[in-house]
Amino acid sequence: MEQQAEQMLKVQAGRFEHYPELKARIEQHLQETLGQQKLVASCIDRLGGANSTIKDAAAMLLASGQVLGGVTMTDEVIKGSTASFAFENLEIATYTTLIAAAEAVGDSETECICEIIVSEEEAMAAWLRNHLHSVTQRYLQRDREVETARK
Ligand code: MG
Ligand code: FE
Repeated sequence: MEQQAEQMLKVQAGRFEHYPELKARIEQHLQETLGQQKLVASCIDRLGGANSTIKDAAAMLLASGQVLGGVTMTDEVIKGSTASFAFENLEIATYTTLIAAAEAVGDSETECICEIIVSEEEAMAAWLRNHLHSVTQRYLQRDREVETARK
């Protein structure tokens, strides 16, 4: 899931040059995501490795957002931000279940790591939630400017 997140954030960071605030937040979360990958890998290594059934859900969600399709859509920033908000909530749900599972088996280190990660996901989700309005208005404004320039 964190590898999917990395791909998605990298694509978006490279494309949203007209949305500097969004781009900066995405770049910040990309760095957080790379740290999360290391933390999650440390847990998996310590426990002897395991596969994740969440991987498929994350891939499906990304495909539905179409942010990795390679085609630049005019409203990509809207579809991308929407997909990102959905993705962050998938991450929140996933880490919430991992925290419960770690607690159930007494793995306090995994529990603590997942608590740290989920707070980063919550902060990113809240940021996106708070900026969907302004990003959408900025998109519509830019769209009108392009239309006017054509006339
Ligand atoms: Mg993450
Ligand atoms: Fe995230």
